[in-house]
Amino acid sequence: MKPFSYSALPSKVTFGFGTLRLVAEEMQALGCKRAIILSTPQQVDAADALLAQLGEMAVGRFYEAAMHTPIDVTERAVAEVIAVNADCTVALGGGSTIGLGKAIALRTDLPQIVIPTTYAGSEATPIIGQTQNGVKNTERTLKVLPEVIIYDVDLTLTLPIGLTITSGMNAIAHAAEGLYAKDGNPVIQMIAEDGLRALSSALPLLYANPLDKEARSNALYGAWACGVTLGSVGMSLHHKLCHALGGTFDLPHAETHTVVLPHAMAYNASAAPEAMARIARAIGVAEAPLGLFELAKSLGAPTSLKELGMPADGIEQVVTLAVKSPYWNPAALDASRLRVLLQNAYEGRPPE
Ligand code: NAD
Repeated sequence: MKPFSYSALPSKVTFGFGTLRLVAEEMQALGCKRAIILSTPQQVDAADALLAQLGEMAVGRFYEAAMHTPIDVTERAVAEVIAVNADCTVALGGGSTIGLGKAIALRTDLPQIVIPTTYAGSEATPIIGQTQNGVKNTERTLKVLPEVIIYDVDLTLTLPIGLTITSGMNAIAHAAEGLYAKDGNPVIQMIAEDGLRALSSALPLLYANPLDKEARSNALYGAWACGVTLGSVGMSLHHKLCHALGGTFDLPHAETHTVVLPHAMAYNASAAPEAMARIARAIGVAEAPLGLFELAKSLGAPTSLKELGMPADGIEQVVTLAVKSPYWNPAALDASRLRVLLQNAYEGRPPE
């Protein structure tokens, strides 16, 4: 066993079907009486149902959460939090809504209860990315780690199938990079591998039947395991490229992860053979990069950056960003290899 260091993240997790009913109980356990409910315009119905369920324990609502946590939205939300004198936030939604709850916690220290409805994994991380004037800044602080996560599988039944697959691949990317992290450890590697296994077996079942409750349950469990990995160890080239692509060209988050992942894995394959073997074993394929490419393709996911709207002449910009302020990566960063990686991802070719 190699020497390692491991710190557990302090948050409570409740997982099951129908667990939304536990929100009031969890608020009481935190000593809270006045929640503000957060969501997006697309999930008003689910958020309003929660508002009604909480009765007097919900004192306000803010349903304007948006991708990449824009600071102007956060400022409006904080003003609402103050106006209604909320003593906690309850975020119901995907990474965008959870990001808003984290941004409020960063500024107010209010405790957070989060109810994730995608597989992005933000609920399990002490990481926040915020955007202002088109620039996204990410920081890591326990101030933004949600105190309580309530996973209610029932809420994921409405996740559209396209987002189900790409959000699942987004989670898979956290676990895959976690397996070769510089600060990796055996606890997180076990969790990451189990997350990969749960998601890669659930996604094909959901593609066939999005209402398969057992598969929804396994996918959400996998998302938690992958989110814990993201929150616990450092990410590398794959996340750096997705960050650069998303920030520069405003590409959709989960889809970008889906397209880039096999190529980033191929780039790192010879520098991280043990991680590749664990990924391949967990997802049940002979070879991790090609296996991930074929998994996503067989589930109808996008395979090219071109179809996501990246401009053809954008590759050089991303290469520059990836080399200028790199994340630690198992393979050395080489501009000509990165150009090949991005060209393949742009065209939707298999990884090489
Ligand atoms: P999202 O939260 O933007 O959701 C996409 C859309 O799907 C939204 O309109 C949402 O309302 C809707 N939706 C979500 N769940 C639904 C459901 N069950 N049924 C019906 N509609 C549903 O997408 P996302 O991919 O979850 O989150 C992306 C954002 O999260 C990005 O900004 C990304 O940077 C951030 N993120 C942050 C971290 C972190 O650790 N800080 C981790 C992962 C993602």
